[in-house]
Amino acid sequence: MSVTATARSAVDALVSALPAGVVVTDAVRVEKYRHDRFEDLAAGMPCAVVRAESTEQVQVALRWATEHRVPVVPRGAGTSLSGGATAVDGCLVLTLERMSGIRVDPDRRVAHVEPGALNISVKEAAAGHGLWYPPDPGSYRISTIGGNIATNAGGLCCVKYGVTADYVLGLDVVLADGRLLRLGGETMKDVAGLNLRQLFVGSEGTLGVVTGAVLRLVPQQGEVSTLVASFPDLVSAGTAVTRIGRTVRPAMLELMDRVSINAVEDHSPRGLDREAGALLIVQSDAPGRSRAEEIATVEALCEEAGATEVATTDDADEGLMFVDARRSAGDATEARGTLLAEDICVPVDRLPEVLAEISAIAVRHDLEIPVVAHAGDGNLHPGIVYPPGDAAARDRAWLAFDDLMALATTFGGTVTGEHGVGRTKTRGLAAQVGPDVLAVSHAIKATLDPLGLLNPGALLPRDPAEGS
Ligand SMILES: Cc1cc2nc3c(=O)[nH]c(=O)nc-3n(C[C@H](O)[C@H](O)[C@H](O)COP(=O)(O)OP(=O)(O)OC[C@H]3O[C@@H](n4cnc5c(N)ncnc54)[C@H](O)[C@@H]3O)c2cc1C
Repeated sequence: MSVTATARSAVDALVSALPAGVVVTDAVRVEKYRHDRFEDLAAGMPCAVVRAESTEQVQVALRWATEHRVPVVPRGAGTSLSGGATAVDGCLVLTLERMSGIRVDPDRRVAHVEPGALNISVKEAAAGHGLWYPPDPGSYRISTIGGNIATNAGGLCCVKYGVTADYVLGLDVVLADGRLLRLGGETMKDVAGLNLRQLFVGSEGTLGVVTGAVLRLVPQQGEVSTLVASFPDLVSAGTAVTRIGRTVRPAMLELMDRVSINAVEDHSPRGLDREAGALLIVQSDAPGRSRAEEIATVEALCEEAGATEVATTDDADEGLMFVDARRSAGDATEARGTLLAEDICVPVDRLPEVLAEISAIAVRHDLEIPVVAHAGDGNLHPGIVYPPGDAAARDRAWLAFDDLMALATTFGGTVTGEHGVGRTKTRGLAAQVGPDVLAVSHAIKATLDPLGLLNPGALLPRDPAEGS
């Protein structure tokens, strides 16, 4: 029997083992699951897609994959910006998008969530009980909780409320051999045994497939006031960020540089100051009168650092307009050409120097690199843009990408703050963590996934020795 015929009969066995409609094999529908938002031109062709409806079906798919030695790429909504959900040749794409149940227990302040539920749906379900699920990646309307957990997604309110990992109390995870692990539960504290639950958070589908989660909820956020400050340059804005972080704890502290401000204004005008070197968008949700005090403190700190204009508002809709402008920067940047999205994170006090270096990298490689940042966390998103189809510019873009990763590690930071290593940053990871951490990571992977079937090529370099 030829290899192709063997593969075909293996897929037939999978189709028979699962209910009708769960396994997708027709080429047109399979094509939709090859790429994520990174749009890797080298994405492989899956042998099939399983659109799982239950944990049991995930177990069946993974047992089948183990039996037939088929690599598996777990997938949520495919919004990864680092190629984490990109298909590899001959793989099974295992999408969790149909498992989207949510049950809120308001007295225990938890939500039981299936992995395919969208982040926004969890927020809405919690709000129905006067509760809040804070993690808010820019993609919160389109990304799934499973994907958020697998990447330990961050977002705009993390500066005060933390990242996805801070809200994961319990996890159901299916291993490559089909075993189901139930980790943690509904309690706010749990130190029984090794913290395997957190090991799976941020593991990018390389250790197991998340099929359920218990998420911690908190009381609904109170009223919010917003401040927008214009700075003549990035260095003064970066200085303000450090001083604000030392003094108060805002609920949001975002930065846009001049290039990203102008990208947003070109794409969908919001009335932002096109001449500003940088904008800071700051929110306070402190209770009662403390909110006005916090905003006044931030205003004074911005002026002290050199802000040329500061505006504040207690109007929620007006505040949202500025936050939406910041959120729209990704789309606005993408509209300017092909985008290589960066996601470095540095200690906050290094922001002024790092921002200056990013401008120098843009000049050096003759590229446009708009920068937005979850500045309060030191998490920068330089978006490297180049004209589609311009091979020379693409090469320069990848050089700039590598320079930015090196810049982050040189300044004591990390190559990825929240998007994950995916398939784009394995080199950077190796350089950042070094051979010992890499070897231990490979050993953990080998224990949980001895055949190396789960999301090969993502997060960890394929070759432990070479680091790429
Ligand atoms: C416009 C835009 C804005 C964004 N803003 C942010 C931001 O502010 N913060 C941020 O952190 N990210 C952001 N992202 C990146 C992306 O949305 C996040 O990484 C998100 O968590 C991915 O969720 P997803 O459902 O799309 O997962 P996918 O892209 O489908 O998968 C992401 C990774 O998770 C794995 N995975 C998915 N589901 C499971 C599962 N059930 N079990 C095991 N592994 C799984 C995949 O294999 C892959 O490695 C943004 C993306 C876009 C397009």
